Amino acid sequence: MICQSLKDPSHQVLFSEAVRRNLAPDGGLYMPSSLPVLEDLDQLLELPWVLRNPEILFRLLGEEFSRVELESMTAEAFNFPVTLVKVAERVWALELFHGPSAAFKDFGARFLAQVLYLLRWKTGDHRALTVLTATSGDTGAAVARAFWNLPGFKVVVLYPEGRVSPLQEKQFATLGGNVRALAVQGNFDDCQALAKGCFNDPLLSAAAGLVSANSINLARLLAQTLYYFEAVAQLRRTEMRDTPVFAVPSGNFGNLCAGLMAQKMGLKVKAFVAATNANRTVPDYLDQGTYRPRPSVPTLSNAMDVGDPSNWPRIEHLFEGNLAELRAALRWGSLDDKETRAALWELQGLGYLADPHAAVAYGVLRSKLSLSEPAVFLGTAHAAKFRDVLEGPMGTKILLPPSLAEVDGKPLQRETILKDLNGLKAILRG
Ligand SMILES: *Cc1c(COP(=O)(O)O)cnc(C)c1O
Repeated sequence: MICQSLKDPSHQVLFSEAVRRNLAPDGGLYMPSSLPVLEDLDQLLELPWVLRNPEILFRLLGEEFSRVELESMTAEAFNFPVTLVKVAERVWALELFHGPSAAFKDFGARFLAQVLYLLRWKTGDHRALTVLTATSGDTGAAVARAFWNLPGFKVVVLYPEGRVSPLQEKQFATLGGNVRALAVQGNFDDCQALAKGCFNDPLLSAAAGLVSANSINLARLLAQTLYYFEAVAQLRRTEMRDTPVFAVPSGNFGNLCAGLMAQKMGLKVKAFVAATNANRTVPDYLDQGTYRPRPSVPTLSNAMDVGDPSNWPRIEHLFEGNLAELRAALRWGSLDDKETRAALWELQGLGYLADPHAAVAYGVLRSKLSLSEPAVFLGTAHAAKFRDVLEGPMGTKILLPPSLAEVDGKPLQRETILKDLNGLKAILRG
């Protein structure tokens, strides 16, 4: 698959290289130069998840990976179920949180791990690679779990000491083995600056074999297209054949971008609902026509607290910057924390326990849906990750899923470091 930099379309590389580099040398995001239209979509939708995934990816990546390779990569990466749960008449939740970190970021992180693993093996270059990631919580958990015990890889997670939830910290700081958790005495921006400082040092990057696994990596997006197909496949099995609306709880807008890519490949979607919390950069842009990134504000749905969404240029690119077409394809809206709590209550009343991110998607969806339309909102995290928010007011006791219960009981294995670039570089050089 040929990929181009969004800053300079004449810079073109294969998918494998785009994944390894993460960002183009000019700082642009990579996007596929074109996407194939899946002419046999109806047959593809009849395939089970495990057979459909390698088949779709083969249409995209067949020049770089064999079918057998894609079969094993997808089987390893997506080794947990995707479930469509009926919540109300014509409304379903697509539960994407049954993986090891209990959030949808497992899809992208685990597929990325498989791609990097196979590429390292195929190139015959047996130096160890170090995945360096700065996290405010969820990404670190998904990345650490995805690369944990993967031969040839080390993981270094940088996170702001005392500023991630105890359960989040347990998810990446109890693993040990090839995962090193470094609690930085600073905030998330300091962690990001440290990571950037390391990636910007070519000598260090080469010596430590640094690779990035952050949310702009193209491998993550491709993986995320797959569950949109699965949602429609499962809807059809319920005899629902009308074209659905998808509501996507959005922060950096990678998830929505993946849905739009699936639509470009031929998946029939009536509309996408771009749902945000109080961080209204995108809804304001769609309302008013001027794009104004701004500092983020903290909310209940904290994985969506993004004021300058990193994947938005990709969505613009899919619509060739045409705001009218973008407005025609999307519906949009936002919920503040009070409205998010109301949406959580409403779902509770329907017998469905959601997390605050899914509740934002559901709440915005309700106001943008006509009665006859079937709709799917994406459940991006397990409610148990937000026990502190949900248990008191909801009066329910939320059990941890096995993957979280397991880490919850383990002791922390972390090191505390100063926000000192040279100190971190010394650690990475070993
Ligand atoms: C990252 C995340 C989101 C936002 O996804 P984007 O692709 O960044 O828009 C939503 N919900 C949860 C639980 C997340 O971790």
